[in-house]
Amino acid sequence: MQDETNDAIDELHALLDPAAVIVSFTGAGISTESGVPDFRSPGSPWMIHRPIPFDAFVASREARVEAWRRKFAMDDHFAGAMPNRGHKALANLVAQGRSPGVITQNIDGLHQDSGIPEDRIIELHGNGTYATCLTCGWRHELAAIRPAFEASGEPPRCIICSGIVKSATISFGQAMPEAAMRRAHALTMRADLFLVAGSSLVVFPAATFPAIAKRNGAKLVIINREPTEPDAIADLVVRAEIGPALGRLAG
Ligand SMILES: [Zn+2]
Repeated sequence: MQDETNDAIDELHALLDPAAVIVSFTGAGISTESGVPDFRSPGSPWMIHRPIPFDAFVASREARVEAWRRKFAMDDHFAGAMPNRGHKALANLVAQGRSPGVITQNIDGLHQDSGIPEDRIIELHGNGTYATCLTCGWRHELAAIRPAFEASGEPPRCIICSGIVKSATISFGQAMPEAAMRRAHALTMRADLFLVAGSSLVVFPAATFPAIAKRNGAKLVIINREPTEPDAIADLVVRAEIGPALGRLAG
């Protein structure tokens, strides 16, 4: 098995080395290696409570209080998570001009922390490291919101328009961000190699991007610990952790 994995990693680099436009698509698997829990895995703090749907968050003060209480408890859970060798490898590809950017399902901001410029990161599920006003879109920093929430017990309101403030993630029942989906599609169409790293590719419509890339003539490479549906159309599947698989590119 170890030899097989090493062979697959050699094959992976044989495909990556000549590729001119590498577009990466990342999911929870790249961040679990940094200690960020996968919200769908059994025993994760996300699975203890039923998720609060977007409609309930907007409609109910109690739901907002509960959502913010959970949000800050979860943040404490993986406070200090740092980018790992997988993140650094992808950041190097961007820095070297070999990758125009990364599409991610993650909300942890670790691609930004790894040094990839904000405009090269497309976040399909938003970002949990800050909050926005649902009415005017103003960005609110968690460091400012949290002490006020903990002191008053009141969910935060926008300082500009008094609108409802929510973590900048896409909640259950909330529409996918259209602009991000459009950018992700355009980026996918530029790829000559589409690299999936740590996504089980089950959340739609995001999971359709590998097939779009493949149909458009790109090579498709999937690095994931578990089998995924698009494995069947991939040029290479690597069953390994992302850090060890991509580590040679981490510098
Ligand atoms: Zn506002």
